[in-house]
Amino acid sequence: MLPIFHIIFGLILSIILYLNNLNPFYAAIFFLASFGFDIDHYIYYIFKKKSFNLPKAYIYFRKDLNKKLKNNQKPIRLLFIFHTIEFLFVIFLLALLLEIFQWVFLGFLFHMVIDWIYLLIKKDNKKYKRAFSLIAYVSRHKKII
Ligand SMILES: [Zn+2]
Repeated sequence: MLPIFHIIFGLILSIILYLNNLNPFYAAIFFLASFGFDIDHYIYYIFKKKSFNLPKAYIYFRKDLNKKLKNNQKPIRLLFIFHTIEFLFVIFLLALLLEIFQWVFLGFLFHMVIDWIYLLIKKDNKKYKRAFSLIAYVSRHKKII
């Protein structure tokens, strides 16, 4: 899903939380967590293409990868390091220790649920396989990217 939709959904929910007496700092943390973890797509691009060019990274995910998906016979498996169950678990553990991470966790969980719904209804989802577990991905591929 495009980051702009995560930003819109995250903003709406963080405003609702704020209007229901959530501390504005925690509402802001929730908002940032609801879209900030998509930075791992850029990290993936940096490692894959050895480039820091953000506009090209955007084009890669919007156009180049879609072309590749259409032409490939086998599904392409992608690893976005923050979009894994292990990372979610680490944030959950931090949330048990510090209140601020409770809102990071909830914002990130909100992000992941939107991503999962989007991937379920997306037409090309059979050719695009996002790795949901870092351990499973590494055990299958022997290298991270
Ligand atoms: Zn995402």
